[in-house]
Amino acid sequence: MNDPLHVFFHPRGVAVLGASANPTKLSYGVIHNLVTHGYLGPIYPVNPKGGEILGLKVYPSLTDVPDPVDLAVIVLPAGQVAAALEECGRRGIRHAVLIASGFGELGAEGKEHEEQLRQIARQYGIRFIGPNCVGVLDTYTPIDTTFSRTMPGQGPIGLVSHSGAVCGGTMDWANVVGVGFSRIVSLGNQADIDMADALDSLSADPHTRVVAAYIEGLPDGRRFVEAARRLTARKPLVVLKAGRTPSGTRAVASHTGALAGADQAFLAACRRAGAIPVDSLEELVDAAIALAYRRPPAGPRMVILTNAGGPAAVGADHLDRHGLRLADLSPQTQARLREVCPPGTMTGNPVDMLGGPQADHYTAALRVLLDAPEVDGVLALFVPQAITPVYDVAVAVGRATETSEKPVVCCISGGGGIRAAARALHAHSVPHYLTPERAAFGLGALWKYARIRERPVPDPEPVEGMDRGRIAALLEGKSGVLSPQEGAEIAAACGLTVPPSGVAVSADEAAALAEGMGYPVVLKRVAPGLTHKSDAGGVVVGLKSADAVREAFARMVRAEERALVQKMAPAGVEVVVGAYRDPQFGPLVMFGLGGVYVEVLRDVAFRMAPLPRAEAREMIAETAAGRLLAGVRGQAARDIEAVVDALCRVGWLMEEFPQISEIDLNPLIVGERGAWAVDVRVVIR
Ligand code: ADP
Ligand code: MG
Repeated sequence: MNDPLHVFFHPRGVAVLGASANPTKLSYGVIHNLVTHGYLGPIYPVNPKGGEILGLKVYPSLTDVPDPVDLAVIVLPAGQVAAALEECGRRGIRHAVLIASGFGELGAEGKEHEEQLRQIARQYGIRFIGPNCVGVLDTYTPIDTTFSRTMPGQGPIGLVSHSGAVCGGTMDWANVVGVGFSRIVSLGNQADIDMADALDSLSADPHTRVVAAYIEGLPDGRRFVEAARRLTARKPLVVLKAGRTPSGTRAVASHTGALAGADQAFLAACRRAGAIPVDSLEELVDAAIALAYRRPPAGPRMVILTNAGGPAAVGADHLDRHGLRLADLSPQTQARLREVCPPGTMTGNPVDMLGGPQADHYTAALRVLLDAPEVDGVLALFVPQAITPVYDVAVAVGRATETSEKPVVCCISGGGGIRAAARALHAHSVPHYLTPERAAFGLGALWKYARIRERPVPDPEPVEGMDRGRIAALLEGKSGVLSPQEGAEIAAACGLTVPPSGVAVSADEAAALAEGMGYPVVLKRVAPGLTHKSDAGGVVVGLKSADAVREAFARMVRAEERALVQKMAPAGVEVVVGAYRDPQFGPLVMFGLGGVYVEVLRDVAFRMAPLPRAEAREMIAETAAGRLLAGVRGQAARDIEAVVDALCRVGWLMEEFPQISEIDLNPLIVGERGAWAVDVRVVIR
């Protein structure tokens, strides 16, 4: 794959526009970092005042700068950026980093200003990063166009972030603990180059083994998912997204709409993308170092090797949270452990060497454990005490595990006294954590990745028997919430199973319809604005004769109203299948337990639409409704494949008919063979 940001990391010359000799200015910081962080190409500070900065000649204008120059870092106030970008275009520079803030983040006027930058860029064929960013760096080229305080060492992690502060903070921390980075990309307002471009770039970069992404806004969530899918086919991706709380601005006219939120959409996007979502900056880094340093485990069986009981117990609890468990150590493995561990060692799991193990004990015990076929990974835990040098333990753990394919993470707790130990572990590619729960989280991230790699999400399969022409005709000229009969017709055209139904304006008409379709039937009141029919006593089920139908009609339906006569579906489990449109990620499909309590129980799963059958099966399995369908307490299993089919059809309907904003099948009645959509609500934008 081509790296769309190649020139940003490998320019044959860099011009810095707005260069200042004043060490308190950002532009001085940029030049300082270009010079001192190892960039070998020519650096051209540009400032009408001329002079010299850090021994470099300052050019009065861009036209005076000699070739080659591929990249411009523009460190001018917002008001001067457009003119500077235009100058770059005229000078033949096709790549720019725009540091200044004061654009889209300020609102409408700033957004217009950004649009102006885009126009200039289009005119000259320029690609630019920013505005409102701290720049980019590559530790292998090396090149550092940022004004950050420090440059991280070389390493396997690629970081891309909408926030410049997250980049700066992470770099500072990384330097202290000895974690290295391959590339750092600060996107800022991503007026041109966006998250998807950055992911493609990091995907192509051979030095990047894992990508950590901090995301604020995604104007085009689908584009992000496509790029993330390309990336995760090659390497792991960990994502932290800010702003995951429900937006509350979306019009909600269905069950699905009420249950959906920005968070559901983001998590569904991560699933489709094969990305690992995390909840905090700490988790972003914790997961990234585990994924960068170690291979994923072949299975979930972990061992905790420790010199203290309490932290081991906490670690064990947390392994469980991530779907991992303690391995059952065989008698042979336990016998070998007894040979090499201090006397009194408890050789069950956790393997507790008690208070006094030396570094050698860790080496020997780790070798035994990593050799054991019943072990898929190890959490080595050491609580510093007086008699064992903590640095030696770190080196011992590092050496013993360097050549093993199995993942090993290490928790050494403490403050300043363990810094050197932490650096030694990272240098040996053993992720270090300060607490057992974070170490367990690291292993958990590896396990998640193991399963993502094992089963990548396939592309959605096409469905047969969808009458697109008929659906289009049914939707023609409609808006708002469609009537139950219209909903049923759309569902039928979509290939879903819908019981026969018709609309009656009188008791006699209702009886005639019922005679035509056969008993038993259901009578439902139809009135504009009536969304929950049964709440208002508007649904009578199990009508077995024409007289019963007439009687129910007379009792329930008021003058000027109508009634839907519908054939009863066979008995079954009631589930809900729905879909809505997320403003960032597009259509999402929902599955859950049906009926009137769906909003209370929140037993629901979401996926991006359209979805492959595998994802449909997965979302069913995730919910309590899915377990009911599988059959509980002697009940027969229901037709889960019919639900899979309904989910896929609804997904395609949303994908192909963007005028549909929400749809609810509540309930879909799932029998032993087949599933019936008896109440279909469709909302047209
Ligand atoms: P609403 O959701 O507006 O109250 P529904 O059409 O969903 O109205 O009907 C309410 C309940 O009546 C359903 O959850 C289901 O239990 C039952 N029901 C409705 N239509 C049928 C049908 N055709 N066959 C069997 N049961 C039905
Ligand atoms: Mg209903």
